[in-house]
Amino acid sequence: MKDTATLSGTRATQPLKDKISLVTGSTSGIGLGIARALAAAGSAVILNGFGKPEEIEAAQAGIRDNYGVPVIYSNADMSKPESIEEMFETVLGDFGTVDVLVNNAGIQHVAPIEKFPVAKWDAILAINLSSAFHTTRLALPGMVDKGWGRIINIASAHGLVGSAFKSAYVAAKHGMLGLTKVTALEVAEKGITCNAICPGYVYTPLVEAQIEGQAKAHGIPREEVIRNVLLAQQPNKRFATTDELGGIALFLTSDAAVSITGTIITADGGWTAH
Ligand code: NAD
Repeated sequence: MKDTATLSGTRATQPLKDKISLVTGSTSGIGLGIARALAAAGSAVILNGFGKPEEIEAAQAGIRDNYGVPVIYSNADMSKPESIEEMFETVLGDFGTVDVLVNNAGIQHVAPIEKFPVAKWDAILAINLSSAFHTTRLALPGMVDKGWGRIINIASAHGLVGSAFKSAYVAAKHGMLGLTKVTALEVAEKGITCNAICPGYVYTPLVEAQIEGQAKAHGIPREEVIRNVLLAQQPNKRFATTDELGGIALFLTSDAAVSITGTIITADGGWTAH
């Protein structure tokens, strides 16, 4: 009786104990928030992305110390299929499987179509969309063998609506939603779900830099930049947080979400309800 209680207690507090989660682009921002949430639920995590070595080491140590789970880091370049394959060879060698895959790595470039640098188009499509195809095709066989898997694609409100000058980003994010639906359909009977999260503006260091930059460029107070420039399309006039995104991702890994697949969860403060 006592053992059962202990077990169910562990399951309640550490629902992802013994699971392995790979979060692409998790050295900062939303990816790091999601990696922390999965680690807090007991999952080992694989961080990926670029950044200053000391900051990446600090992120790893923070997760290890706070949650007591194994953490490894891969510097695989999500724009390169061969680099993604190498990452999977290492991860599958070390852990044997990836149970939770979060496709989060992403970049942005803003320019009118006729001036959009071709190399930027290629990079955005590769990192924001094709990388998710590669990680998914490499993670699925292990998930199918286990009869359990969660794939979470971080798209954007720009997966559902367009904005001028963001052709590559909007095209990639719309594509991500298509990939989400097809993945969900192909593995629907195999204990694997695939869903997309579509955030509006999320408060990250990059967004903070944009607030500062726009305030200086236009000579207007930061509150005005936040409300009328950055959050012009976002009815609730607040940024989502990386912790909130972590919470949504964690929910999608839960037993309660087992029937949720092929769907899109918006976290955009009402943006796409317009
Ligand atoms: P961020 O810049 O803080 O994080 C991006 C991550 O991707 C970093 O870890 C970076 O190192 C990594 N990365 C970039 N290029 C890479 C590459 N070639 N290979 C491997 N990793 C690479 O950005 P963020 O705001 O946290 O964005 C994360 C995701 O959320 C992106 O897909 C973005 O499009 C999406 N998103 C962000 C917002 C927002 O408001 N911040 C809103 C909607 C969607």
